[in-house]
Amino acid sequence: MALDGKAAIVTGAATGIGYAIAERLLREGVRVVIADIDAEKGARAIADLEQFGEVRFVKADVGKSLDVHNLVASTIDTLGDIDILVNNAGIVHGADFLDIKEEDFDRVLKVNLKGTFMVGQAVARYMADKVKGGGAPGVIVNMSSVNAVFAIANQVPYSVSKGGVNQLTKVMALSLAPYGIRVNAIGPGSIMTDMLASVNADPAAKNRILSRTPLGRIGDPKEIASIAAFLASDDASYITGQTIYADGGRLPL
Ligand code: NAD
Repeated sequence: MALDGKAAIVTGAATGIGYAIAERLLREGVRVVIADIDAEKGARAIADLEQFGEVRFVKADVGKSLDVHNLVASTIDTLGDIDILVNNAGIVHGADFLDIKEEDFDRVLKVNLKGTFMVGQAVARYMADKVKGGGAPGVIVNMSSVNAVFAIANQVPYSVSKGGVNQLTKVMALSLAPYGIRVNAIGPGSIMTDMLASVNADPAAKNRILSRTPLGRIGDPKEIASIAAFLASDDASYITGQTIYADGGRLPL
């Protein structure tokens, strides 16, 4: 995939899909900064990932501009560059539409949508400056969801935030194309991570997911990581502004 030696930031990578993406990139020879709000899980992730290559942890809340500034500055400081950004951090909040509290709506939008914008803009500014100086353009991958297009009644701010991520991906792709910077998104279906733990613990909820997934199984984080690695590589050199869905066939075929 010719990713060897590149430098990447993966947000929300202490566990789950982000962790799998960090591992996959490391196995491809990429040097990786994993950014996460949870320092304890981050330290555990580093201990597990160090066997695969050069990896660092930066504690950062993607919804806080100071943290974002520090994340970008310290990555350039330690890795010397940023070629790849994977905007993966995301949270859910389950509540029916009539019961959602304003602070919960704001919290989900702040991490999933505004966080993607803030980290995306800070890294894109660095990447654009690099191109102006004669350097190679970078690549950005945002984490969307099938819920960007497939509504679930008790996931209102989540669905709205992921719809926003799809549109943000298109706007970023358009704005950054003159620099050669590609921006795409991945839209996973149900993937086995902590985010899905409550569903997994409830057989009825798990059966509901399986019944609407033609492939008849929940996905593995590695099946999302492989798409992130592809989109980050030159194998995807003519793809920008797209959301690639990996959902076992769940979106209407
Ligand atoms: P997860 O809950 O297992 O992991 C999310 C990670 O993000 C955690 O390590 C958490 O500490 C970190 N995080 C949370 N808030 C943060 C913040 N403000 N700043 C930095 N880090 C933060 O979730 P996951 O299932 O691995 O999901 C990863 C991404 O994939 C999310 O964007 C999610 O919406 C998306 N996604 C997941 C599924 C699924 O079924 N698991 C499906 C579709 C989309």
